[in-house]
Amino acid sequence: MRVAKQKRALVIGGSIGGLCAGHLLHRAGWNATVYERSRSDLADRGAGLGVSKELFDIMARIGIEPDPSLSVGAKTSIWLGQKDELVQELPRASRGSTWPVIYQPLRRALPDALYRPGMILTRIEQDGPKARAIFADGTAEEADLIVAADGVMSTVRRQFLPEVAPKQAGYVAWRGIIDEAEIPASGRDLLFDRIAFSFPEGEMILSVHVPGPGNDVRPGHRRYYFIWYRPATPEQQREMFTDVAGQNHGLSIPPAMIRGEFLDQLQAAARAKLPPLMAEIVSRVKQPLLQAITDMESPRLVFGRVALMGDAAFVARPHVAAGTSKAALDAACLVDALDAAGDDIDAALVRYNEQRCAFGRAIVAHSRYLGAYIEAQIKPLPERGAAATRDPARIITDYGAPHLVHAA
Ligand SMILES: Cc1cc2nc3c(=O)[nH]c(=O)nc-3n(C[C@H](O)[C@H](O)[C@H](O)COP(=O)(O)OP(=O)(O)OC[C@H]3O[C@@H](n4cnc5c(N)ncnc54)[C@H](O)[C@@H]3O)c2cc1C
Repeated sequence: MRVAKQKRALVIGGSIGGLCAGHLLHRAGWNATVYERSRSDLADRGAGLGVSKELFDIMARIGIEPDPSLSVGAKTSIWLGQKDELVQELPRASRGSTWPVIYQPLRRALPDALYRPGMILTRIEQDGPKARAIFADGTAEEADLIVAADGVMSTVRRQFLPEVAPKQAGYVAWRGIIDEAEIPASGRDLLFDRIAFSFPEGEMILSVHVPGPGNDVRPGHRRYYFIWYRPATPEQQREMFTDVAGQNHGLSIPPAMIRGEFLDQLQAAARAKLPPLMAEIVSRVKQPLLQAITDMESPRLVFGRVALMGDAAFVARPHVAAGTSKAALDAACLVDALDAAGDDIDAALVRYNEQRCAFGRAIVAHSRYLGAYIEAQIKPLPERGAAATRDPARIITDYGAPHLVHAA
């Protein structure tokens, strides 16, 4: 009897997408190893994120049982007016978490022997049905499949699609997180278990409960997260992402390097533009985070025996709150296609490419639609169009992408 040789896969990038791919491939019988550039614990970074039933289903498939401490649910969304008044409440439910809360169980569940930290991929070589990963330390590893989960600035994507890059959307996001106990007493009932949206002229802020330290989801012990979208021209963004020493950091900046003048401007704008409750919450954040809003589409995801996934493949703007769900669904789709195709890896990759390109294009398009309201604000008045005055209730109703994630 012929014993089938175990197939080998290299996963480049050990964040949420790469860990999902590593686990699922391993469970499907592959010899799969995850190679991560960073040597440090990634759980020390990150802020709030949207999660979905689909993400938790994939985690359960990996062996991480559903656990109520992984997220906090909001039953409805509210539109908060300029004087903290409740303008409208809409029956739009969602779940929020934080990056480390989702990352940690995925990392803990992957045996150390399958996770190689401090390994920086520099390029890929291909030779018939084999692909070879070359790392910065000079080592080379050969496999039947290389999965590129190396994020938005993916080294792998830049090798195969050098013309594809993230596109700036004309606005930035300020994010911050505080302890739930720091929410001003006047707002606790109003904000409790709801997502709160507010729409100062041409801008948008939303805030939500997320798990607290030690995944504590008991009321009073959770944390409270906001993301504030503000229009900024390319010139303004260049300044905002340049530190005091004159170094420009591109599309984001280490929080401690954000120049004091921009933090002062943020607080002044909060007092001038936000409902008092939101302004108070922004003022209580010790170290806000700042990122440029971008999106990115790859025209194809498969190059011989190399497959792009997660943020390396498509990046939707954060309004769809689906970056981690999308990465997990990419991993699941890839492994399901490989399973279904048996020994025909190339046929599986054709199927994966078709399915995930369609999904990626749809979710990026939806995120552009949701962000068009803010994006329009940097255009001259006559060019702004209908998106600039879109009804806030419509924006709230359409927010997120449950219809896309659920159908994937
Ligand atoms: C530390 C961290 C914190 C984050 N926090 C948040 C958050 O708070 N909210 C949110 O919405 N999203 C956050 N994200 C992004 C979020 O993880 C992604 O949008 C989504 O989960 C898709 O993930 P991904 O695995 O495709 O890509 P990413 O999460 O971007 O991960 C890519 C990984 O590849 C590694 N890598 C890059 N280049 C190489 C290379 N050449 N060789 C080897 N490894 C490489 C990176 O170090 C990184 O770990 C965070 C990402 C990271 C890495």
